[in-house]
Amino acid sequence: MEEEKIRERISFLQAELTRHSKLYYTNDAPEISDYEYDALFAELKQLEERFPQYKTETSPTQRVGGKILEGFQKITHTVPMMSLDNALNKEALSEFITKINDYFGANCEFLCEPKIDGLAVSCIFQDGVFVEGATRGNGVVGEDVTENLKTVKNLPLKLPVNLSGRLEVRGEACIDKIGFERLNASREEEGLTLFANPRNAAAGSLRTLNTRETAKRNLKVFFYQVVEPEKWGIKTQKEMLEFIQNIGLPCQGSHTLATCEAEIISYLDNWANLRHSHAIDTDGVVVKLNDISLRSSLGATSHAPRWAIAFKFPPEEKITQIKNIEVTVGRTGVLTPTAVFDPVRLAGTTVRRASLHNQDEIDGLDVGIGDFVWVRKAGEIIPEVIRVEKEKRPFGVSKFVIPNICPVCGAAAVRNCGEVAIRCQNSSCPAQLKQKLSYFASRDAMNITGLGVKLVAQLIDKGVFKNAADIYKTDIKIYSLMDKMGEKSALNLVNAIEASKNRPLSALINALGISNIGQKTAEDLASHFGKLDALAHAALYNTEVLSFIDGIGEVLASSIKTWFSQEQNKNLIEELRVAGLNFGREEDAKKATPQTEITGKKFVLTGELEGFTRKYAEEIIKRMGGVTSSSVSSKTDFVLAGTAPGSKFTKAQALGIKIINEEDFRHMVKDFI
Ligand code: NAD
Repeated sequence: MEEEKIRERISFLQAELTRHSKLYYTNDAPEISDYEYDALFAELKQLEERFPQYKTETSPTQRVGGKILEGFQKITHTVPMMSLDNALNKEALSEFITKINDYFGANCEFLCEPKIDGLAVSCIFQDGVFVEGATRGNGVVGEDVTENLKTVKNLPLKLPVNLSGRLEVRGEACIDKIGFERLNASREEEGLTLFANPRNAAAGSLRTLNTRETAKRNLKVFFYQVVEPEKWGIKTQKEMLEFIQNIGLPCQGSHTLATCEAEIISYLDNWANLRHSHAIDTDGVVVKLNDISLRSSLGATSHAPRWAIAFKFPPEEKITQIKNIEVTVGRTGVLTPTAVFDPVRLAGTTVRRASLHNQDEIDGLDVGIGDFVWVRKAGEIIPEVIRVEKEKRPFGVSKFVIPNICPVCGAAAVRNCGEVAIRCQNSSCPAQLKQKLSYFASRDAMNITGLGVKLVAQLIDKGVFKNAADIYKTDIKIYSLMDKMGEKSALNLVNAIEASKNRPLSALINALGISNIGQKTAEDLASHFGKLDALAHAALYNTEVLSFIDGIGEVLASSIKTWFSQEQNKNLIEELRVAGLNFGREEDAKKATPQTEITGKKFVLTGELEGFTRKYAEEIIKRMGGVTSSSVSSKTDFVLAGTAPGSKFTKAQALGIKIINEEDFRHMVKDFI
């Protein structure tokens, strides 16, 4: 390549990798696979080594991680948190081992560990008590995620052993494969964008300002590093992992000490198979020089230490032919296309189907029945069609179009403005009704044990259930006549139905199956309005109030409004009221929305407060019926500014938003604290 072309290529790669890093680290929404990213990164690194005059300080090869998200406090790491260099094939791995052995003139020992696909966190324990947790951030400064980490169940908040002084351990926060699958399934149902892989799901779950949301995501953390190991008498990586286990911290295990290259390769090959049945996604193997005292003489680049390397497994992709595209109807009427193809073995299992999600996805792929397609498992878990092998397209095959009539009831199926989903418009569509009523009875909704998908389907097919209120009207005798039901099961079912009448309001709102409203939003709505009638009133006559609630934008507000405006839903509410369901008790409503000058007002907090922690101040605002938000907009009523306020302060000034100090705030909430 002539030099000008090389310069152009380097600057293209720098810009492209920076763009992908932002999508990956800041937005948790990558556009390309890690493998593609790593290949571009390796090319840039090699070109910059050959032509250092074009290397810039801001090049992705010189930096670690991404931007710190707004809204988090920053924590400066005592020792920088680095990334790892990659080996994309066995030759690169071999080169790494030879280089180190040559440097020391001996065959060194290496510790091989699974590379967990999550995000790095640092945790500090003071005298055995967990006091602070941070993300890696840009390697020097991370985000303070202490409160979020406290919700991670396998992280002990107090060590089971006596340990005095400050201990810093580093590890990986991750989500297991089942958790990832469930999370994406519920996001698809709620019409939210899916996480591309468990790493992005874990990052999105940990880097949220809503601790309750983190708590629900079932995150786990596993440690692999102790900072300042000499302080604890640790001499090798193997001892480090043993120390972590001995003091009661979670550690992945499955590591091996290798004394030669052949043993490293054998560990790698073995793990390449084992990882498919492992509960947690691992994207490679990390090989580390075992003797810690030797590491310092090797040092580090600006990006990674020279004594460790990550071997990344290439993604498994297979080609197959699409035999059919089935369209199913979900609980909210969404038509979902699924490709059915010739079975292929992928990541340890046989795969026959993959969701094509929606028409936009089909258009992007330009895929039709009969096409040959490449498939893989996203994050080694969820099958996906990645591209069409156009050269193999059989004669007559063209792009699939989702029908504009419902495949189950024949009613019109329409794409609403601003949505990607196409929905069946008939809310009594049997397919929708089966899903809706199964959802209504499910654990996070009305929790009616015994009323599963099959029984619901039977009762709908026999004409017993026409809406959710029929669950409460149906006689025990009818239940006992259904397949696989006897008197005892019918009695248990009726008892569960009776008990469900006392479910909290949030469960009832969730159970109603309003488009785009899942459990979390239902909880927010319940705690804001306190009573179903208050929510219905706001939805019908005062939709603006909905936008005071964090996380409710135009789409959700419009879903709520549409649902409560429909005649059949108004009737359903009345029937459920007659059945005696808890619509939010009077005293709860009072607790949730006391009438104060804060009620209904939107607050943004910036800077440090002296007399309140930020969390406590937010809690008070919420308990007094106000809402808090992380960004200033024209809808903000008050900006509460402490010392050293950030950019929110200047934005509030520019927009003319009322700025209050801690003293003003204390006065406003004096009756409450
Ligand atoms: P990395 O994931 O390649 O490796 C370093 C990280 O591995 C460490 O920081 C640590 O968090 C983790 N790790 C897991 N198990 C470990 C163990 N046993 N010991 C030590 N560390 C362990 O590096 P990164 O800097 O976190 O991320 C860079 C990678 O992210 C890239 O190589 C690429 O694969 C991916 N990425 C993808 C895109 C995209 O668009 N798809 C964009 C940017 C980055």
